[in-house]
Amino acid sequence: MPDSTAGLSIDLDHLTKSYPGAATSAVEDVTLHFPAGELVVLVGPSGCGKTTTMRMINRLIEPSGGAIRLGDRDVTHVDPDELRRGMGYVIQQIGLFPHMTIADNVATVPRLLGWPKPRIRARVEEMLALVGLEPGEFARRFPRQLSGGQQQRVGVARALAADPPVLLMDEPFGATDPITRVRLQREFRRLQQELRKTVVFVTHDFEEALLLGDRIAVLAEHSRVAQYDTPLRLLAEPADPHVAAFVGEAGYVRMLGLVRADAVPLLPGPGKGTARLSGEATLREVADRLLGGAAEVTVLDSDGTPIGHLDFEGVRAAMSAHLDAGTGDVGVSDPGTVRG
Ligand code: ADP
Ligand code: MG
Repeated sequence: MPDSTAGLSIDLDHLTKSYPGAATSAVEDVTLHFPAGELVVLVGPSGCGKTTTMRMINRLIEPSGGAIRLGDRDVTHVDPDELRRGMGYVIQQIGLFPHMTIADNVATVPRLLGWPKPRIRARVEEMLALVGLEPGEFARRFPRQLSGGQQQRVGVARALAADPPVLLMDEPFGATDPITRVRLQREFRRLQQELRKTVVFVTHDFEEALLLGDRIAVLAEHSRVAQYDTPLRLLAEPADPHVAAFVGEAGYVRMLGLVRADAVPLLPGPGKGTARLSGEATLREVADRLLGGAAEVTVLDSDGTPIGHLDFEGVRAAMSAHLDAGTGDVGVSDPGTVRG
């Protein structure tokens, strides 16, 4: 893949939105820092102000107060059209132009930017391939000739076409069936690990937030930031009852599902017994084996060679070591791309 534009940090500084006539602000005094190249999820219940917060970033909604910075630049009052060309935007309703081919849909922003035709054509093919759609098969089709999941991939390709440093995604996978959704989530995570855009991703689905986010902002009413943390920290130390309610009682088990076996300190030697798992397995899978009666689980590298083992105490120690390290940089298990 050619070099792509790296992400830019985004700062929301005391951002507020009040609609005329409304008794309370939709968004009240939100301050958040989105680090360059990270995927940050805004998660919260319906109506809490997620979409309003996101749309103020590309000024589809004008803030009533506060400021927005992109990198070092204050963009609170720059030309919104210019701003939007530097920010990909993906929404649940996808919003493909129905009378335009897939290729023309993906080419929208490069055309607006006046790219030469050969460059646009090459870019469209590159983007379709990137999201797992064979250009020869899909470029000349119309949106109605694609499944919902395929259309959503086109939405992502279109948002990435002009190589913007920032991607805004508002419940982008919400309208797809559960299996397609998981595929799209995994594909997008893999893509983001290559592209390292700055992504602001809105969802009401906490599982989705855990799967995708480098960091997660749990929002309460009026976009109040209840907690802003790594997935692991949120699960381990919910800041208040609102966050704890989101995390639920299975928090520790979910936390185990976020850490790869080969990302933690293993006990030396293959250990006793016959239970074996690949290093890509999560600690949740290790715990399942232990709960199923195995005293120890041998962890294997990609060649099937034992690299160590884990028992219950080992899993517990690994979790606390991870939490103490506090980086949140855990090896989230990615079973790779599945096309649908
Ligand atoms: P979310 O995306 O978290 O579901 P929204 O940002 O869409 O929430 O909405 C936040 C609040 O702002 C809601 O109470 C909603 O009713 C209100 N709101 C959204 N758009 C408008 C509008 N155009 N006029 C008045 N109130 C609005
Ligand atoms: Mg919304």
